[in-house]
Amino acid sequence: MVPIHQWIKIKAPATVANMVCGFDILGFAVCDPYDEMEMRLVPRAENVPAITIINIDEYNLPTQPEKNVAGAALLALLEESPKEFGFEVKINKLIKPGSGVGSSAASSAGAVVGANYLLGNIFSKDDLVRFAMNGEKVASGVKHADNIAPCIHGGVTLVRSIFPLEIITLPSPQLYVTIVHPQIEVRTSDARSILRQQVLLKDAIKQWGNIAGLVAGLMKSDYDLIGRSLEDVIIEPVRSILIPGFDELKKQCKEAGALGGGISGSGPSIFMLSKTKDIALLVQAKMKALYDSIGLPHHTYVTTINPAGVEIETKN
Ligand code: ADP
Repeated sequence: MVPIHQWIKIKAPATVANMVCGFDILGFAVCDPYDEMEMRLVPRAENVPAITIINIDEYNLPTQPEKNVAGAALLALLEESPKEFGFEVKINKLIKPGSGVGSSAASSAGAVVGANYLLGNIFSKDDLVRFAMNGEKVASGVKHADNIAPCIHGGVTLVRSIFPLEIITLPSPQLYVTIVHPQIEVRTSDARSILRQQVLLKDAIKQWGNIAGLVAGLMKSDYDLIGRSLEDVIIEPVRSILIPGFDELKKQCKEAGALGGGISGSGPSIFMLSKTKDIALLVQAKMKALYDSIGLPHHTYVTTINPAGVEIETKN
């Protein structure tokens, strides 16, 4: 266990969920961007809150533990932890909330991985995912693990089942990730409410062929198979109407050599996977040019899949 009052530093990475055909089940962690957090154990005392949240960024997120996703995740963890300790958490969000790259998951996952480290690693990764999903419930109203799982495990993860929880980490070949975040707001609730509740059998067959193909492609390091399988015939045709220039952007990125990609989370960010850094940079240039041409402010990232997930360093 880390001595009481000693701060640790935490790096909690962004994640891409809804990996094209893998809606709600496939996601991966990236190296950049990431949130910075600091945490320490404090003794529990009467009239002192068990969890104190200090935001050191410009986003003005709630500091009440039950309203901040990090706090909600820690409250769940505290129910199963030694009763004599509480936590103080400082959060510096470098992942903009609502961007679609797992801003809420980074805080929830970072908090529970940090807490577990402080307590001497008494919980399993599945326990931590279970606690962190309480944060996602605060952010979006539902417990889901498609961002939390890769944030905690690192790499690419498959959430085969939530109840009971079954997460499978998948190997992947070297992949470069280009992300563009157009500065518009897509509310997760809107992105969910426009989805159709029924699926045609022919579409379902195509989709599960693609999911199986994508998983096989990742496991066999078969870039062509990965590229062919990065196709979503169910969610993307409906959701992409919320993102200006989506179809044209995707076409241009694929012409530039990207293997494929799609909407990150529930948008508005879009991600593309590439085999080399040069292609990923070309894809970035295409994204910038397209959004510049329609006058839409945006941020881009060129990064790689992050095999580690949340990382801890002890502070001197
Ligand atoms: P993303 O896909 O980028 O995580 P979400 O819309 O799922 O975006 O989550 C962001 C929502 O969660 C916002 O409404 C935000 O106010 C709320 N929230 C509460 N606490 C946090 C936190 N610590 N980090 C990020 N978002 C938080």
